[in-house]
Amino acid sequence: MCLDCETTGLNRRKLMKLAGFGLAAGALASGASANEQKKPAHEAEQAADAHGADAHAAEAPASEGHATETHAAEAPAAAAHEAETGGLTPKQALSKLREGNRRFVEDANACASNLAHRREELAGGQHPWAIVLTCSDSRVTPELIFGGVTLGELFVIRNAGNVLDTSALGTIEYGAEHLHAPLIVVMGHKKCGAVAAACDVVQKGTELDGSIGKMVQPILPVALAALFKSEDFVGQTVRNNAVSGAARIMRESPIVAHLVEEGKVRIVPAVYDIETGEVEFISKA
Ligand SMILES: [Zn+2]
Repeated sequence: MCLDCETTGLNRRKLMKLAGFGLAAGALASGASANEQKKPAHEAEQAADAHGADAHAAEAPASEGHATETHAAEAPAAAAHEAETGGLTPKQALSKLREGNRRFVEDANACASNLAHRREELAGGQHPWAIVLTCSDSRVTPELIFGGVTLGELFVIRNAGNVLDTSALGTIEYGAEHLHAPLIVVMGHKKCGAVAAACDVVQKGTELDGSIGKMVQPILPVALAALFKSEDFVGQTVRNNAVSGAARIMRESPIVAHLVEEGKVRIVPAVYDIETGEVEFISKA
């Protein structure tokens, strides 16, 4: 199994130590490949889709112009949830992000916001309709790349490498359960420095200074599984890291998993292209 490691002189014990024993051991013991890393998110997506279909039957018609789906039946619990989320279903929230990103790609200058007006509107409370976990990279600003969405719309968690650590997961749970945001996007981006650093640890044994090494630890098992699987090692790891993050939310948060199973929340991994401005939503990982 570790022919690749042996041929390149990689020290398996060191990698396991670097990656955090449990995480790396899990990846190594299961022989997890890049494809296997993707599987849970795929399953999560299918589960979300399946339940999403149920949820649609209980949705009230949305008031927004782009949300054209109407549904006959309306369950009281779902209707109450709809009111709290501003009438957006997970599917409609995803469509809104897609549309915003299309506007951003086609005419970024048109994405202006009336901040003063929105600030007054939101003083009494927030009802964000999407949660976005993404990288701190200064070129990956969700409020801009999703078409100039303004105050009070996106609930954003950012760190280098869009790592799903405890604070990220807790913030996601808060956004989904208490703020009732119907969509969670885990978005990596091309040419990510944090992911590239994790890849260097795995591929070259690079030792990272300070807290950076600890920070990228959750990416190491993902990078390890992607090693030698693609000519674009960093790009593949970026993609797998987003997919893995989405899958881990389902595995590690019973709160969010329950909301997904009820059809109230959908989780979607994504990759942002910093050159073209396009966001690829990974629907079938
Ligand atoms: Zn990055």
